[in-house]
Amino acid sequence: MLNEKSVVVTGSTSGIGLGIARSFASEGANIMLNGLGDAAEIEKLRAGLESDYKVKAVYSPADMTRPSEIADMIAQAQGELGGVDVLVNNAGIQHVAPVDEFPPEKWDQIIAINLTAAFHTTRIAVPLMKAAGWGRIINIASAHGLVASPFKSAYIAAKHGIVGLTKTVALEIAEQGITCNAICPGWVKTPLVDKQIDAQAAVHKMPRDDVIRKVVLAKQPTKSFVKIEEVAALAVFLAGDAAASINGASMPIDGGWVAH
Ligand code: NAD
Repeated sequence: MLNEKSVVVTGSTSGIGLGIARSFASEGANIMLNGLGDAAEIEKLRAGLESDYKVKAVYSPADMTRPSEIADMIAQAQGELGGVDVLVNNAGIQHVAPVDEFPPEKWDQIIAINLTAAFHTTRIAVPLMKAAGWGRIINIASAHGLVASPFKSAYIAAKHGIVGLTKTVALEIAEQGITCNAICPGWVKTPLVDKQIDAQAAVHKMPRDDVIRKVVLAKQPTKSFVKIEEVAALAVFLAGDAAASINGASMPIDGGWVAH
């Protein structure tokens, strides 16, 4: 049923976003990639999606801190893919510091990319979905959208914010054939997390494996990383007919973290 649907995934040049893009492409959907990175590498990813899955894949370089570029991205999806059937708000960054040492410019950047960008994509895509009478908005929040940990004030504020945005949008679009849900992953091993492992190893003067076991996965009861493919499969499920009545939910996929 996702055959030839248009799927926009923000922050899909790496990690979870790229995994989600691949999973939708494997279901026959046309994909708009977005995100930062080396132009030649991104072109390889884009062309790879087209040749591996025989779908159309386009790329938008929109910077999620810039509302005008976000508007351009949605317009490009309309022009090149014929609309936005599924919007996955995934782009995100992290910065770890105590609140009294948190750089204000990092706070602003995290709120812009992890929260405000989703407001802009949603406000521009919803009229297209309403006109089509069908749509799916999937926000990649975090276990940190439901519970907190120290030293991540901006990230946790943004992720709790996106859970609130998800609920509000869900109520507004509920009668239009559109759903809006959030996925709340625990630790997933991606470049974003690799950077944190390196930073923690330096702070704690511990080998990486010890950091992974004793620091990173301390809160994740399964003591293993969530797989990118598992998060991607949940996103694909939420876009399908079987999920038509799931609306406004924030679904943990975290090995039991928020059961604590
Ligand atoms: P990642 O660093 O691998 O990917 C982040 C993506 O966002 C990249 O494609 C990057 O280019 C893009 N991006 C960053 N700044 C951007 C900007 N200004 N404009 C456009 N794109 C930008 O990270 P990831 O771990 O795959 O994270 C993806 C999402 O999943 C994030 O929202 C993150 O908070 C969330 N998440 C990750 C984990 C985890 O453990 N990895 C857990 C819970 C939630």
